[in-house]
Amino acid sequence: MLSQFKAVGHALFTQGLVSPCSGNLSIKLGEHLVITHRGSILGSIGEADLVETGIAKNDRATPLASSELAVHRSIYKNTSALAVVHAHPPYAVALSFIEKEIIPCDMEGRALLPKVLILGQGIALKAGDLGEEIAETLKQYKVVLVWGHGSFAAGQLLEEAYYYTSVLEQSCRLLYLLKALGRILT
Ligand SMILES: [Zn+2]
Repeated sequence: MLSQFKAVGHALFTQGLVSPCSGNLSIKLGEHLVITHRGSILGSIGEADLVETGIAKNDRATPLASSELAVHRSIYKNTSALAVVHAHPPYAVALSFIEKEIIPCDMEGRALLPKVLILGQGIALKAGDLGEEIAETLKQYKVVLVWGHGSFAAGQLLEEAYYYTSVLEQSCRLLYLLKALGRILT
């Protein structure tokens, strides 16, 4: 299990999808989840960076979990996801400020993520907010953006949720470049 967290954390970090202390990862294990520690550096995850706690119940480990624990819990309570990746992909976050939703125009993005919703537009949010709205959206979509903050992606494996995050960022980077070139596709 640690190797999955290590590989995905490292990939997110080296691709610039998280800054040194941002982002969080989790997997579901029955009534529990294993989530990265509050303040973990995803680029170098070790055994001590993983916290196991309840999905519905708190225990002694709960305060050590990522500040986005409430969102991860809500996703596991309300969807069939077994893994969640939260990242801060910069092009996607930049577009979240100015778009109502993201419609990828590249082939891979279009096929995988035909539409990406942006939640919490114009609202000053703190970590852990919008859990229910994010979970509700992830029943229908693979990834969702929170306005001015980052992405939440859900899948059966961490690698899968990472892949959706990565495709979202590639699509947003392309949309950004097209806008910069004055070529906005509709
Ligand atoms: Zn965040």
